[in-house]
Amino acid sequence: MDLSKRNNLKNEVSNLIEELSEYGKTENNGITRTLFSDIWMDTQKFLESEMVKRGLKTRFDEVGNLYGMVKGTEQATETIMVGSHIDTVVGGGRLDGQLGIVSGIIAIEKLVEEFGVPKKNLEIVSMAEEEGSRFPYTFWGSKNIVGTVSKEEVEKLVDHDGVSFAEAMKGKGFDFKNENAVIRDDIKAYLELHIEQGGVLEKEGKPIGLVNSIVGQKRFLIEVEGESNHAGTTPMSYRRDSLHGAAKMIDSIIELSKEYGDPLVATVGRLDVVPNTSNVVPGKVVFSVDTRHTNNEVVSDFISKFKASIESIANEMNLKIKIDQYMDGYPVPMDEDLINKMEKICLAKELDYKIMHSGAGHDAQIFAPKIPTALIFVPSRKGISHSYLEFTDPEDYVYGVELLKEMFYDLAY
Ligand SMILES: [Zn+2]
Repeated sequence: MDLSKRNNLKNEVSNLIEELSEYGKTENNGITRTLFSDIWMDTQKFLESEMVKRGLKTRFDEVGNLYGMVKGTEQATETIMVGSHIDTVVGGGRLDGQLGIVSGIIAIEKLVEEFGVPKKNLEIVSMAEEEGSRFPYTFWGSKNIVGTVSKEEVEKLVDHDGVSFAEAMKGKGFDFKNENAVIRDDIKAYLELHIEQGGVLEKEGKPIGLVNSIVGQKRFLIEVEGESNHAGTTPMSYRRDSLHGAAKMIDSIIELSKEYGDPLVATVGRLDVVPNTSNVVPGKVVFSVDTRHTNNEVVSDFISKFKASIESIANEMNLKIKIDQYMDGYPVPMDEDLINKMEKICLAKELDYKIMHSGAGHDAQIFAPKIPTALIFVPSRKGISHSYLEFTDPEDYVYGVELLKEMFYDLAY
């Protein structure tokens, strides 16, 4: 791609990101934009006007997703879709989610300018929600598109202010999808561009990541029960110290995870101690384990080993242990043909890339089991995200947008 075209692409994307980032802007230039809030609605309306300006035919679906489409000339029953989510976490950054939407809009605009109307439909979707930051529910947008959500799952959920999901949604003029509605079968591919949210691309100096798999996430709460007692009068040999036990267990889990090596990760990020007082032997501890891998067999093997290890520590120390697994996500592979296509384009256009997995969840994992799906990563400075410090140099992300545009051309023209 010649330099002036690349500069033009870069400027248009960064200008629209700039304008969009006014919606929900926080004091330190981050963004808070949670599902069905006033600012969320204003953002979707602003985006709709930006799509219309660029010649896209827009519509909202029942549940709050916004679409913009260019109808194809020859195979108008087939759609190539691109998108990401418009919501953010509380105190989030300016790129997580919306960079993917903006890149899609600008890529479609430029393609139509250069090559006219495509053969297949090109469609951008600004998905209502992915982060789960207002209600304890994730992927509302994408799950509705592929039909893997039911009313019962969300209806009774409430936010921090006690507002129910249904109430919040209806307040913005949306409603549950008719459960007998036909699921779209025209979407032949789903593409998503997203920031990496890790530091791998930056460290390796690559502007593009081609994601081959999204990790499966498994989460546990582990309760260790001993006996609370006086810190001065209880001899060491008489104690059933739950925190000492938990400390040994945590150490064994983390050390074991290192033996497995990349891409396995394991994190203990939460620790609740009862009574959490300096002069009482701790009677109960609850700690969390979050573990992820791209291969379900490997992570399952790790889990059974760490369970055996912490159970034997509990036995030795005369402690009771309860293991509660509350999340069991499977790894999701991305479409091989699309990865091959992207590789070919990168090689032909001399775009430097890395094939990699994603350690974070994305809408792409909801689409992938149903529709051929590709996920493109662009670097994150210092790997930081879900923070106002989230940043990618437009000089870097422009390569990802270029690839997205080339993929559209390949698939729809
Ligand atoms: Zn995201």
